Formats: sequence, structure tokens, C-alpha cells
Amino acid sequence: MTLSSEKLAIEGGEPIYAGAWPASFHGSEEFAQEEKDAVLRVLDKKRVFRFLPRGIEDSEASQLEAGYRELTGRAHALAVSSGTSALIAALVGAGVGPGDEVIVPAYTYIATAAAVISARAVPVIAEIDNSLNLDPADFERKITPLTKAVIPVHMRGVPARMDEIMAVARKAKIKVIEDVSQANGGRYRGRSLGAIGDLGCFSLQQYKVITAGEGGMIVTDDSVAYQRCLMAHDSAIRFWQGDSSIPSFPGENFRLSELAAALAVAQFGKMPAILARLRAIKARVVGQIRHVPGLTLQDVPDPEGDCGVTLIFFLPSADKAKQFSAALKAEGIPNGTMYDNTIPDRHIYRNWDYVLSKRGATGAGCPWTCGAYHGNVEYSPDMCPRSLDYLGRAILIGFSQRMTDEHADLIAAGIRKVAGVILE
Ligand SMILES: *Cc1c(COP(=O)(O)O)cnc(C)c1O
Repeated sequence: MTLSSEKLAIEGGEPIYAGAWPASFHGSEEFAQEEKDAVLRVLDKKRVFRFLPRGIEDSEASQLEAGYRELTGRAHALAVSSGTSALIAALVGAGVGPGDEVIVPAYTYIATAAAVISARAVPVIAEIDNSLNLDPADFERKITPLTKAVIPVHMRGVPARMDEIMAVARKAKIKVIEDVSQANGGRYRGRSLGAIGDLGCFSLQQYKVITAGEGGMIVTDDSVAYQRCLMAHDSAIRFWQGDSSIPSFPGENFRLSELAAALAVAQFGKMPAILARLRAIKARVVGQIRHVPGLTLQDVPDPEGDCGVTLIFFLPSADKAKQFSAALKAEGIPNGTMYDNTIPDRHIYRNWDYVLSKRGATGAGCPWTCGAYHGNVEYSPDMCPRSLDYLGRAILIGFSQRMTDEHADLIAAGIRKVAGVILE
């Protein structure tokens, strides 16, 4: 490789690139006339609450739900106020509650575990594998007679190993709730993410593929679960709609505002173009670094379904990863290591302080000390060593749909240059 003779920028050489990079947000970078029109349309209608009396036009929220039914092919979709509220309502919808355990991966946003606690169940933490998503084998090992559900998370746009996870879950009769917050529009073996488990949950927060600032969506084919989700998301749902054959129970207020729903409808229309561009950029970079010695790409269970929001690769050791990351940064290529003990990244179980110390909002100790719970889950900072090993050796580069092909080539050139010197 001719690049290997070049002097690294970190050692005083010429950097690969000294220019600027597009902002890393996705949907919000595409805000334009469509989004302005959508929000003003709601103001002109003077209707900001979705459940106004029948007889007027469809709410924005119901239009968004129709979009998600079409995207996922599922029978039901329910718009909610956030990805976290989607998870809580989906857990309640699936029948999860006091006394139950729910398995979550060691690498996911803390809200996944917090939602389990909010649903009054106990989170059980399982290892991730080289896809950086739930390891099906460790998921199976963590099952107890109390396990009611599992939440596979499609982190950073990459689908989890759903075939293996579904096989384990079906055998053990465990509900599967997909957390699609970071992989809106992603697919796995021809199916939309969120359409494989019993329920799928999406987020429309600003870091995600498309955004309404805040917002979320639940999809399912299970009519009873859907009715339960409706109740969980609105303490007075029976006043607006719902099937009275299912006994009512108290819920929260997780409704989506019409303003956010309208913004989301406009963004939803832009999602295919955003994803197509992200996928093209990632493919262009991957094609140029696939065979670089010493560097192992994250295993992507279905590369075609990958949203393309990030490139992740592993180095032989955590020290090498730190060295590589610093050298790549000096070349002008933005990147980061994923776990180095210095930044309390809230996506890594080790930093979920209130979970590890079993701390609720009061001193009562629920759900862990709840009379309905007969298990004895234990947590410790080192309980998932393989997850920490993978994350410690990983380097992440985030893509923007605004990157040009030249940006993609610069990223690849930077990686090849640094690898040529550091990994020989
Ligand atoms: C963002 C996120 C959530 C929470 O979504 P909010 O809309 O911020 O509540 C849950 N899980 C994962 C994996 C996320 O990335």
C-alpha cells in the first residue's frame, strides 16, 4: 500500500483533509418549506389536539400512523410523545408489569432500561456480540422463569440478529419488543425493522434519522396489545376511542401533539432519500476499506437493511483503538472511540448508575424489592466483559446525508493512511 509511507499528521505530516464537514444531524438538516408548511397548516386549522370530535378531517397523528402502517406492513400504529414513552406503552401493551424480568442489551441508550423500570419490571442485562447488538446466545442464557420480554435494539442503524433472537424468544414464549429508535426505515432480510417482533418502537427525537423534535411510534399486529397500548398512552382513551371489550386500566399521557405530528409527516416523506444517500456514502467508504489488514468491520447482519448512519470497525486492542482514533482525528477525519472509561457514555450499561445500584425515585427499592418480584437479579460494572471488550476496541464514524462522494473518499483515505502506519 503506497499510503503506508506517508507521514501521519499526528507526527507532523500533511493531514488528509483540513476542510469542514456537514453537520451530523439527519432529519433536522433537511428542514425546509415542507416542514414550515406542515406546522403552519396545523396553526391555520386551529387544531393542535388529535382527538377532537369526529366529523372533521383526519388528524396529523393519524396520517403519520398510516405512514408507519404502510412502511412496516403492520395492522396497527400508535403515535406517542417519544421513543421512551413508546417503549413504556409497548411493554404495558405486551402485558409486562410487576414481577416480570425484561432482557435488554448491554449497549443501548439508557432509556431502554429505564422504560422497563417505568413499566415496573426488572431489567436484565445481556451481552452484545460483534454486531454491537444483542447476542442471541447470551439472551438465551439470561432467560429465567420470570422473563416476560426481550428488547432487541437496532443500534446506530444496524439491524440486530432477529432470526436468531426470534427463534430463542418463540421457544421460550417471550414477547419481543424491537427498539428501532436509531434505525427508523431500516430493514432485515426483506422486512421492515419494527415488523419482526411482537411490537416495534420508534423515536422521532432530533438525533434520529427523521425528527419532530420529540415523538415516537408503536407498531404491532396484535389487536389486544394495541388496545392496551392505547390505554397506556392516554388515561382517558375511552372518551376518545377504543375497544370496550378489554378492561380499562390507568395510563399516562403519552399523546403526540399535532404540531409534532405534522412535522413528522413532512419528515417521513424525506426518509427514503435520506436513507438512500446515507447507504450510498457508507457503501462507498466500506468498499475502500474492507480489506485493510488489522481492521475488522462491525458485523452487519443484513447490510442491505443497514440505515448507513455509522461506520464502526474494531482494532486488535483498546490501546490501538485510542491511538488510531487520535491519529485519524489529526488527519482531519471526525471519529471517536466508543468506550474508554473516561466519558460516562449513557449508551453503555456500565454507566447506568441508577440501574446498577437498583435506585428508584424513592427509597422503597421497587421494582427490585416489589412483593410481586421473586427473582434475584444482580448487576455489576463488569458483568458484561465481552460487550466492554468489543466497545473498547471499536471506532465510530458518523455519516451525514450531506456528505459528498469526496467526503466519503477522504474518510476512506484517512483510514487507509493511518492503518498503513499503525497496524502493520
Ligand atoms: C433515543 C433512544 C430512545 C429514546 O427515545 P426518546 O425519543 O429520546 O425518548 C430509546 N432507545 C434508543 C436506542 C434510543 O436511541
